Amino acid sequence: MADTGRCPTCNKPIDDKHVMLPENMIELIKRFAPADNYALCTRCGGGKLYTASTRISFSGIDTDIEPLKASFPLLTLPIPPGWEYDPITFVAENVVVGAGSFTAFGASVSEVFGGEAPEFMIKIRKGIEACSVRLITKAIEAGANAVIDLSINQSGNGGAGGLIMIGMTGTAVRLNNLEVLGESRMNDLRKLKEKLDALNHLEALRTEYQAFSRQYKLI
Ligand SMILES: [Zn+2]
Repeated sequence: MADTGRCPTCNKPIDDKHVMLPENMIELIKRFAPADNYALCTRCGGGKLYTASTRISFSGIDTDIEPLKASFPLLTLPIPPGWEYDPITFVAENVVVGAGSFTAFGASVSEVFGGEAPEFMIKIRKGIEACSVRLITKAIEAGANAVIDLSINQSGNGGAGGLIMIGMTGTAVRLNNLEVLGESRMNDLRKLKEKLDALNHLEALRTEYQAFSRQYKLI
């Protein structure tokens, strides 16, 4: 077993099985379990590292991301004027809405749209919102910052089974001249990009932590 010195903090030997914590693991400790001293080995820093790892999910980044999704452009226009963009991929999502009490009335869609069953309208609207968020999430995962040529369709009228499916399809694109969206939206989309990058970075650190802790039998 190679002896490569001692840990400056706990003075225990550093060898094949006990190493100084690498930079990425120290980054986790700095962010989630700050210490006075970051010259830590797997023996004296293992506990702190574990504590830090359990806090990754509570970084708060996800909750910062959700409201920013409202600024994500979701357009029915096939070619928005002034946009310079690169198409990325086709995206599709759907949600199923239970019409619930609507079926009990046996109302037709036209009656409902006439305002006789507002709860039905609320369910449809919520379904469309939920579907939009899913579509946006999918587009973001594909590296897009906008969806164009969006179409929304609805099948079923709440009759048989009381279920209505809301489907959305569109083309996820990378908009290059974000300034066409106006300053406030452009800033939101930039923030969204930063937060997503930060989240991806944390996910990568989590994976690196898992590999590191297995390798050095920390957990
Ligand atoms: Zn140590």
